[in-house]
Amino acid sequence: MSDLTHRAWSEALEDGELLGQACGGCDATLGAPKAACPHCGSRELETIELPTSGTVYTETTINVPPIGIDQRGYQVAVVQLGDARVLGRLVDQDVGIGSRVGLAGFDEDDDGYVTPHFKAE
Ligand SMILES: [Zn+2]
Repeated sequence: MSDLTHRAWSEALEDGELLGQACGGCDATLGAPKAACPHCGSRELETIELPTSGTVYTETTINVPPIGIDQRGYQVAVVQLGDARVLGRLVDQDVGIGSRVGLAGFDEDDDGYVTPHFKAE
């Protein structure tokens, strides 16, 4: 079983590092802490450091923000970082699918959930 907790992942992000997990069962790379691999169910997950720059895999604009977020029309994206895909928020309006982006800080909500921010490189 992996020792990567959500807290450790969040603390690393606050230090400007993105952690992921490499699956020993199927070679998948996970971009957020999981207790088991979503692809093969293996619990042989090793904590790894992910690159902090990559490309936008998919993005969407949220026009009805979730409770706690005041800003309307913000963009969320799945960013391909090496072999992992990480969900984050785009803070640069000129970013689209395929754009090169890099880690650019984070948000923390009232429950301590941290979301990475990405912007164009
Ligand atoms: Zn796996």
